[in-house]
Amino acid sequence: MISTMEVGMTVSKVNNFIQGMWRTAASSDWFESRNPANPDDVIGLFPQSTTQDIEAAVQAATRACADWRGVGLVKRAEYLLRVAQLMEEDREGLAHTVAREAGKQINEARADVVEAIHTAQYAFAFGHLGQYGRVLADEVPSKRCYEVMEPRGIVVAITPWNFPVALPFWLTGLSLVLGNCVILKPSELTPMCGAKIAGYFEQAGLPPGVFQVLHGTGEAVGAPLVAHPQTHVVLFTGSYEVGLQIKQEVAKQADKVCTIETGGKNAVLVMDDANVDMAVSASVLSAFKTAGQRCVTAGRLLVDSRIADHFADRFVSAAKRVTVGDPMDEQVFYGSMINQHGVEKGRRFNEQARKEGFQILLDRNSESPPTSKGYWLKPFVYTGPWRHESVCLTEEAFSPHVAIVPVRGVEEAVEVYNDTKYGLSGAIITEDYRKAKYAEEHMRCGIFYWNLPCIGAGVRLPFGGVKQSGNLIPSAAGLIPVLTHPKAITYNLDTKIVMAQGLKAEIG
Ligand code: NAD
Repeated sequence: MISTMEVGMTVSKVNNFIQGMWRTAASSDWFESRNPANPDDVIGLFPQSTTQDIEAAVQAATRACADWRGVGLVKRAEYLLRVAQLMEEDREGLAHTVAREAGKQINEARADVVEAIHTAQYAFAFGHLGQYGRVLADEVPSKRCYEVMEPRGIVVAITPWNFPVALPFWLTGLSLVLGNCVILKPSELTPMCGAKIAGYFEQAGLPPGVFQVLHGTGEAVGAPLVAHPQTHVVLFTGSYEVGLQIKQEVAKQADKVCTIETGGKNAVLVMDDANVDMAVSASVLSAFKTAGQRCVTAGRLLVDSRIADHFADRFVSAAKRVTVGDPMDEQVFYGSMINQHGVEKGRRFNEQARKEGFQILLDRNSESPPTSKGYWLKPFVYTGPWRHESVCLTEEAFSPHVAIVPVRGVEEAVEVYNDTKYGLSGAIITEDYRKAKYAEEHMRCGIFYWNLPCIGAGVRLPFGGVKQSGNLIPSAAGLIPVLTHPKAITYNLDTKIVMAQGLKAEIG
């Protein structure tokens, strides 16, 4: 599937996937992908692509676009079904690659793969419905009006490392079915996952140039793809800082559109009537799954002060039981951090909580790490009153770092929830539907849950945030207006011309 050549004893070089082929990059510059739980384990070497590789991919996509449109919606959809089947057959192998390359615990890695399969199936199902527009009435009955969704052209998909299989499918499945060609720039931290995805598309027999993968850093490959005058749509998921740069670059081209889906400082609201068992489970899942490295991770637990002490005791006792270790171990709760940078960022946030004078309820980082090598962080829990100016309470830590903040009732909880620049995901745990409804209506977020964790999105609902968490909803049906432009078409079935709005058609 992947063209490789042996380097030393075990490490493979994995090429870009351009124009249906595994093409050697123009430069001789390669970068390594290593297992973050065991950095001695080199997963592969990947090309640092250059402008020549970028140009080759863009030109191949440009050539492929017209024919791909001609394939038609239903047939294009069938390729996605085939890809979903291939992933299903390789489900366990792919999950192992995710666990090995992203450090995600194997159960989470499997969920990542299942999400990708579901997204590919969703794209297939959408295509097989066969709808690519609407029929509309005109004031003149002999006219037939249609709105037809036309593909925009070349879609650049830039993805982060933390959902290295699911996210590329969110961004590419519907893009392809709707008739666009896709160039995927996977995270340089999880390039093998990107290469495996290219392998499924190759096996499914997609025409050359329709789906391509270019490896390399964001600056060297992502940015030039964004700026390239022949690319039409940019779908970005990653950090706010990069998302903002992309939006600014895209604004220079009148006809280019982009979606940016970025970070969050999400929260679980725990009300005084909450089922405390449920509140503790929802909070542990929200704060610590993927070692807190999810865009929807809860960095804040906003707990009614009447039960805050009781909840804190229960939560801390559960956080002490959270197991951290080898991602391949079926029993551990979460695996490793992605790299040293992730560990250092998490440590800085823990230190910041101390500097800001919060009470530290639990810091398990003095425990010995699961292995002497690898990148590990254990749960860190602190508490104190809400402070708008606090860095650790308001910025994304992207680590297992969580605050318990006492609040007075649902209105204050919502006010505190809204008091950050982000607005991605939030949950409320309460037995009172009125509180749930109040929170749903007043929390400024893109994703809301009642009596659930604030993580765990499905593929059919939109997924995205407001404020600095993103500018659109780049998943499921929400993506369609980004991936297509509506063409307004009118047919005259009469033998004479009748103009709208009473405009005279007679000449002379
Ligand atoms: P990142 O922003 O560092 O990188 C994301 C991607 O952007 C990578 O492929 C990277 O190579 C590329 N990139 C970097 N600089 C670029 C540039 N100048 N131009 C174009 N592309 C560039 O993010 P990350 O560390 O991989 O992921 C973590 C972040 O992603 C967190 O902030 C997390 O909240 C966010 N995230 C958001 C969602 C969501 O749906 N809202 C989902 C997952 C992750």
